[in-house]
Amino acid sequence: MTKIGLEIHCQLTKLESKLFCKCKADYRSLPPNSNICPVCVGLPGSLPMLNRKAVEKAAMISLVLGCKIPEKISFFRKNYFYPDLPKNFQITQYNAYEPTSIGSEGKVEIEGKEIRIRRIQLEEDPGRLIYEGSSEKTLITLVDYNRAGTPLVEIVTEPDFETPRQVRIFLNVLADLVENIGVSDPYIEGALRVDGNISLEKGNRVEIKNVGSFRDIEKALHFEITRQQSLVARKIPVQAETRHWDEARKITVSARSKEEEEDYRYVPEADIPVVVIDTNTIATLQRQMPESIIAKRERYIKKYDIPPQVADVLSSDKFYSDLFENAHSETNAREIANIITTDLMGFADTREKKMELKINAKHLLDLADAIINKKITRNSGKLALQEMVKTGKSLSEVISMLDLGHVSDTFSLEKIVDEVFKEEEKAVSDAKQNADSVNYLVGKVMKKTKGKADPSTTIEIVRKKLSS
Ligand code: ZN
Ligand code: MN
Repeated sequence: MTKIGLEIHCQLTKLESKLFCKCKADYRSLPPNSNICPVCVGLPGSLPMLNRKAVEKAAMISLVLGCKIPEKISFFRKNYFYPDLPKNFQITQYNAYEPTSIGSEGKVEIEGKEIRIRRIQLEEDPGRLIYEGSSEKTLITLVDYNRAGTPLVEIVTEPDFETPRQVRIFLNVLADLVENIGVSDPYIEGALRVDGNISLEKGNRVEIKNVGSFRDIEKALHFEITRQQSLVARKIPVQAETRHWDEARKITVSARSKEEEEDYRYVPEADIPVVVIDTNTIATLQRQMPESIIAKRERYIKKYDIPPQVADVLSSDKFYSDLFENAHSETNAREIANIITTDLMGFADTREKKMELKINAKHLLDLADAIINKKITRNSGKLALQEMVKTGKSLSEVISMLDLGHVSDTFSLEKIVDEVFKEEEKAVSDAKQNADSVNYLVGKVMKKTKGKADPSTTIEIVRKKLSS
């Protein structure tokens, strides 16, 4: 049986400052090595000061993943040498004698399957190495410490996944959860990084390190299954090792033999005192947490009678559910949910496209009202929406620009139906016995009006004329 476990590093991107100093947590787009101080580059004699907000946000991740939070949390030094880590140790958490990391024993359900969370820990991100070309062939390696010390939450699962597909689904759920509680923007490049451990039937465990995208981790795991199966078929033992995902070649490559936990010589971090998290603090955090995705979904179904599948999609996406919250009222909620999940999500199926949408609540509100009051057909509504999200123009501007006004007045519709009857004599005579021909005629009217005719009025007129 294939067993897959994950270690996910999630940056707390919503924080102002780093984990142990006042440097900016948002290191992106700053000139190299400009966002540093003695603490985050680990100069001798510097003293780390724990960022309280980081502890709170990590605790919120614990809560949303159903983890236990211990009464006391503490920090450890994980010793290793690497150029991106000038202190030669990373300040992290470790359960040495008892659980003292910010979370343990949680669970997340995906498609009826329970994925157990072993542990959650708060730690600092190292700096960033920049290679010329690939890391294997480069002659020059540059290091930028701007990222060093930014707050990370590491989430470790039990090896409960059986397929790469389950991994991708889990990661999407996880990303939605952390985004919904406002601790991280998991779609920023590098904000969510994944290591995957994979072993086949009784085989050794192989670790795939630092994959930046959900699609790539799924591919990397698929590749590993095939590679390991082919080794087994040729009776070659699978090495326990760490492998890298080569994005360009779409393969994993051997990196180094895997170090064991004891190699890191964890020692308690004496510069940071033990932090007590009492039940009051947890209760306060729980109160501050935004409505959960599950509660939101229930509310959409119960209060607005939104179909469960639509409520599912809408509640799990923070961007779209925020848009929904700002646009809907008691009477148009279903229509707005419908526009968002069928049309809007269709135009913008990636994060980048979503960010480019020039849409606000007013656009949606106007569009839903126009559809409900039959000022515009659903088809034309979709065209109007497409234009609004591109230009940011108002609905009325777009309707007149694209000439999308609804043809629902009986007089002009009758004229158009007459024209169609003249052109489609055969269909008209068939239509007396054949329902398909009626639909055909209605279709012709729709075509002539470029989809602007009100369908129910059109059918009524066609039927009336056929029976006269
Ligand atoms: Zn600093
Ligand atoms: Mn880590």
